[in-house]
Amino acid sequence: MVPHDLNVDLHMHSTASDGTLSPEDLVARGAANGVQIMALTDHDTLDGLARARAAAADYGVRFFNGVEISVTWGGETLHMVGLDFDDQHPALAGSLRQVAASRFERARAMDQGLVAAGLPSIFEEAMAYAGNPNLIGRAHFARAMVARGICSHMQAVFDQYLTPGHPGYVPHEWSSLRQAMDWVHQAGGFTVLAHPARYRINATAHWALIQEFMSLGGKTIEVATGSHSLDETRRYQRLSIELGLMASRGSDFHCPKESRCDVGQAPALPCGTLPVWAGYSERFGLNTGVTSH
Ligand code: AMP
Ligand code: MN
Ligand code: MN
Ligand code: MN
Repeated sequence: MVPHDLNVDLHMHSTASDGTLSPEDLVARGAANGVQIMALTDHDTLDGLARARAAAADYGVRFFNGVEISVTWGGETLHMVGLDFDDQHPALAGSLRQVAASRFERARAMDQGLVAAGLPSIFEEAMAYAGNPNLIGRAHFARAMVARGICSHMQAVFDQYLTPGHPGYVPHEWSSLRQAMDWVHQAGGFTVLAHPARYRINATAHWALIQEFMSLGGKTIEVATGSHSLDETRRYQRLSIELGLMASRGSDFHCPKESRCDVGQAPALPCGTLPVWAGYSERFGLNTGVTSH
């Protein structure tokens, strides 16, 4: 089979972070959607991996460890996906526990910001939405605020309350790009710059980011993702070809009712790109001999 035609989904979330499906239900959904190779990439945690891996074995889906690490770069929050690492490696697992620990205090501060703006305290309800209390995040607040009737949908909560310049937004210092990439590389994995079109940085900074990512050993960017429009997918198709970067594909699925892209249903990788599963065919157990078309 031509690598572009495999149904590979290397980016999705479970209840271990801010998704709404358990790791098992997420795998079942992927299998039902025809996914052949998948990775679970919860925010800043490895907690869902063992359960997802066991479920994937039951369903005959090939599974890879993943994580989406929050990074502060040039004052912006970026997301860096790590894949196919040893999830018992202390450098990665221990560092992520520290990242997670900072989320609880951040959530308290978010709640105080909302209360100072005249809203009721939402902290307890947001915590109730967090399947994993260590991984409390903005999506849990957004769900709790929609349930309270403060806004009619998640996007409105983010636009009015949870993004920079709004009362529930708390600037937060995540790990550096270098640290996050080091943890993944030390644990034997590889790194992927997640949804590069989503960052609110100018063209010069964007270029500097790609250069720094490459100089730190990054070889792959997400091209086809539920977090990109088709135009953005085309833009990163060109960039990956020009720079010789491998291309990744992932739904960034969180929730059946919220996500615009279901598990396994991100657009196919566009022509000319080198799918990361073909570029790393040994890691992925694929020896097709075909690298791109
Ligand atoms: P956090 O890691 O706590 O800052 O939360 C980031 C998460 O919030 C993202 O991974 C998305 O799941 C969600 N998110 C961010 N921006 C939006 C948005 N504009 N609309 C809906 N969900 C969003
Ligand atoms: Mn998320
Ligand atoms: Mn992300
Ligand atoms: Mn994601």
